[in-house]
Amino acid sequence: MSETKKKKKLGLTTTIFLALLAGAVCGSLLHRFAADVPFVQNVLVNGVFYVAGQGFIRLMQMLVVPLVFCSLVCGAAAIGDTKTLGKVGVKTIGFYLVTTMLAISVALGVARLINPGRGLDMSQVQAAETAAPAASLSFADTLLNIIPKNPIGALAGGDMLPIILFALIIGVILAKLQDKVQLVTNFFQQGNDIMMEMTMMVMRLAPVGVFCLISKTFSELGVEAMKPMFKYMVCVLLALVLQCLGVYQLLLAAFTRLNPLKFIRKFAPVMGFAFSTATSNATIPLSIETLEDKMGVSRRISSFTVPLGATINMDGTSIMQGVAVVFVAQAFGIALTPADYLTVIATATLASIGTAGVPSVGLVTLAMVFDSVGLPVAGIGLIMGIDRILDMARTAVNITGDAVCTTIVAHQDGALDRAVFDK
Ligand code: ASP
Repeated sequence: MSETKKKKKLGLTTTIFLALLAGAVCGSLLHRFAADVPFVQNVLVNGVFYVAGQGFIRLMQMLVVPLVFCSLVCGAAAIGDTKTLGKVGVKTIGFYLVTTMLAISVALGVARLINPGRGLDMSQVQAAETAAPAASLSFADTLLNIIPKNPIGALAGGDMLPIILFALIIGVILAKLQDKVQLVTNFFQQGNDIMMEMTMMVMRLAPVGVFCLISKTFSELGVEAMKPMFKYMVCVLLALVLQCLGVYQLLLAAFTRLNPLKFIRKFAPVMGFAFSTATSNATIPLSIETLEDKMGVSRRISSFTVPLGATINMDGTSIMQGVAVVFVAQAFGIALTPADYLTVIATATLASIGTAGVPSVGLVTLAMVFDSVGLPVAGIGLIMGIDRILDMARTAVNITGDAVCTTIVAHQDGALDRAVFDK
């Protein structure tokens, strides 16, 4: 990555964070001094802030269907390509899915314990924006609905689960037919590039969007709104730490008998790189190199598992999404049933597959997790301002998960040189 590009990215991170602080200050001041001034309320809060904030949310929503569709088709096509790796491929995908489900469960557990959204009453403020509660369906129907009767209808209606299934099938077929369908494969790859570029463009507007969303929220709720947001951050960070230092290290020790502390020490620079760039994709080369040079993992395994993980395995992202679900449900006073939690585990796992390894995409796919349990997508506005910091932290966990799974699979496949690891 060129130096200027890096600067730009960090610049955006800082700007968004500053926009959050400025929005919080501006909103709190308006709440304190201009709550009864009709002009300020009508023109500024419910005019400019509302339109710009909601406009930004709509732009994010606009990205979801094409982004997830293209990125899943490409992801599935990449998996199909690796037929030669057969057993290793299946095992890796299995590990990725299990660690993601564990991650969401940790997140839901921590969030249910800390209750980050309690005390923040958004139900009054944005009742009009709240989506209608999802009609309750039987489990059998929920399962059946994953199969689209009409895939184009599913795309047009933004029904994520059927879209995901359809995309996965197309990807697998593209991989199977190889050269015969090269044109279509290229089409989806380029579609993916276009959507990534569009995401970047939308993210450039994030400082304005965040400022307006947070200003409006704080002008309606006052500084009290900060407390639950702080609790939300603590929840996400705590769950990330538990996943990284607890779940991963237990798995590593159980499956390989390697020293977890040594693993963390050797892998720390890669985590630092992921943290500062918030981009799993950019971390792939460094991760493969570190795994080979310091841990003794053969490239035969890592050159497949690490890029695959950076595409489909986002444990940190799904942790953020799990906590966000509990936070927003509590803030909007929406009760979630045990079936809802299971839906969240399933959709957040799929969202993790559909989340590309670049900054902020986890926030886009969060819309589909919210949708699946009838939470208002507007709730994303609440957490957007602080998301950049969490994005950095969760990216570090995302790539650590890939590395842990890679090391385990390499160990089982006789592709791990313990002498190098122990050095
Ligand atoms: N930034 C994350 C990554 O690159 C994705 C996300 O959660 O937005 O892994």
